Amino acid sequence: MPHTFNVEPGSKVKLADYDPRHTNGIERAQAETEFAALAQEIDDLQELLYAAGSHSLLVILQGMDTSGKDGTIRNVFGLVDPLGCRTESFKVPTAEELAHDFLWRVHKVTPGRGELAIFNRSHYEDVLVVRVHNLVSESVWRKRYRQINDFEHVLAEANTIILKFYLHISKEEQEERLLAREQEVEKAWKLSAGDWKERQFWDDYQRAYEEALSQCSTEAAPWHIVPADRKWYRNFAVAHTVVQTLRPYKEQWLAKLAKVGDEAKAELAAMRTSSQPE
Ligand code: ADP
Repeated sequence: MPHTFNVEPGSKVKLADYDPRHTNGIERAQAETEFAALAQEIDDLQELLYAAGSHSLLVILQGMDTSGKDGTIRNVFGLVDPLGCRTESFKVPTAEELAHDFLWRVHKVTPGRGELAIFNRSHYEDVLVVRVHNLVSESVWRKRYRQINDFEHVLAEANTIILKFYLHISKEEQEERLLAREQEVEKAWKLSAGDWKERQFWDDYQRAYEEALSQCSTEAAPWHIVPADRKWYRNFAVAHTVVQTLRPYKEQWLAKLAKVGDEAKAELAAMRTSSQPE
C-alpha cells in the first residue's frame, strides 16, 4: 500500500484535497519501527546501486519554506554511505547561471551511473518562485513544464530512476515552525525575515505547485505528494516510497554483480595460469 499520494500523469492536482496531517491509519510507534528498517534497507539498496553501476538515482525534494526538506534528507538518507551519495541545493541563481538556460546548472549535477543525488530544491523553482514573483514573463515560464518533462525524459532514458517528493504542509504548521525557530536557540540560525515575507504569497505558491505537479508528473518521473505536518509520518512515507521504487531493481543489480564477480575471477584464474612457469 502506498503511503504517499502518487500523482497520476495527466491528472489535475488540487492541494486542498490532500490533508497534510494524513497518516494513513498508522500509529507513530509502528511507523517509527518500520522506518528504522526502511532506512537500513535504503542503505543496502544504495550500496547495490553503487556496486552494479547501471542506474542512477535522482531524488527531488520540493516544498514550502519549513516543509522539512533538510530534515527528510538527514533522516531518510542518514545511514547511506556519504561516498555514494551527494546533496545539491539550488539557491538564487548566480549571474553566470542566469546567463544560461535554466537547466544548465541542474544538468551538470545530475547523478552519474551508480550515484545517488538528492536535490534540495531543483529546476522546479523555475516554475515556482520565478512564476510567483514574475522573474520572467509567462511566455517563458509556461514553456518550462514541457522543457522539464523533456529533460527528465532524457535522464530516465539514460537509466536514471527519478523520484519527486512534494512535502505538503499546512499554513498553520508553517506558522508554528517559523515561530519555533524564534524560540529555540539551535534553530534560530535558520531564521529569515524572507520566510515570513514569502508566506504572504502562500496561495500563489500553492497554485504554482498545483500546476507543476499536474503538468510534470510522468510515468518516468512521477510526483509524490507527502503529508508532511507530522515529521515522523513524512520520514516514514518518503522512506517507504524510496524502498518500493528500488526493490524491483534488486535482482537485476545482484545478477550484474555476480556476473562482474565471475568475470573478475576468470580473469584472475587466466592470469595465474599464464604466469605459471613451464
Ligand atoms: P532553503 O530555504 O532551501 O533552506 P535558502 O534559504 O538559501 O535555502 O533558500 C534558497 C532560495 O533560493 C529560496 O528562496 C528559493 O526560492 C531561491 N531559488 C532557488 N532557485 C531559484 C531560481 N531558479 N530563481 C530564483 N530563486 C531561486
